[in-house]
Amino acid sequence: MKVCRTIAVTRGELRAVRGGSIGLVPTMGALHAGHLSLLEAARGENDSVVMSIFVNPAQFSDGADLAAYPRDDEHDLALAREAGVDLVFAPSAEEMYPSGFQTWVDVTELGSVLEGEFRPGHFRGVATVVLKLFEIVRPTRAYFGQKDAQQVAVIRQLIRDLAVDVELRVLPIVRDADGLALSSRNVLLTPQQRRTALALPRALATRDRDAALMHLRSTDGLDVDYVEVADFGPPVLAGAVRVGTTRLIDNVPLEGDPA
Ligand code: AMP
Repeated sequence: MKVCRTIAVTRGELRAVRGGSIGLVPTMGALHAGHLSLLEAARGENDSVVMSIFVNPAQFSDGADLAAYPRDDEHDLALAREAGVDLVFAPSAEEMYPSGFQTWVDVTELGSVLEGEFRPGHFRGVATVVLKLFEIVRPTRAYFGQKDAQQVAVIRQLIRDLAVDVELRVLPIVRDADGLALSSRNVLLTPQQRRTALALPRALATRDRDAALMHLRSTDGLDVDYVEVADFGPPVLAGAVRVGTTRLIDNVPLEGDPA
């Protein structure tokens, strides 16, 4: 497995495998089984698998949130190697945002509601870095989790609007046995906060906005940002809550098999 820190070296390494298909799995590291499900799908469907690790400062509006984001490079590289990743692209912030950087991608409508409303500029950061990763890796397929349903919708729109030549693959949410969606941020929760956080999947499991809100509002130690029905194709009931200083999001599909 190659570990590349620069765009130039990554492009050089990928030149040799451009004859075959390339699967790209963008991540912010602190890998868990949700990420591994994307890597497994990418490994099964492509000749080469590229994983990026980049905690993208442009998608964090809050400096403290960025500083607290869990990082564990060595563990991530070991897991990536086990998952059969061929190349890890793990650039510095300066590599992705060189001095003088001023070009941004803004998915104006989809990027400004729900998560976009509570995290202004978040999807501008996401869309910009994802398009840049697409340009660097030029993947055949790119893999994203339904956990971030709005992010998937934003990227689908970006691909369509800018005619990006990539196949978007979306994988289901991986959950812990108790129902909590896996997230790199879960390690930031105390045991008590983790129990409190379970209210989010339980509330969304009602598949009813009002019932979900009532359940969340009656839970101590948790603040609700929103619970809304959103047509992200598929339609979902999506929610975001804060437990202490940790913000958690989750969603359930409103069509098809609840399981
Ligand atoms: P992140 O490192 O949190 O930016 O996530 C990288 C990718 O993994 C994104 O496409 C996420 O949607 C996806 N992902 C994160 N958590 C999960 C999960 N619990 N199940 C499935 N995919 C996930």
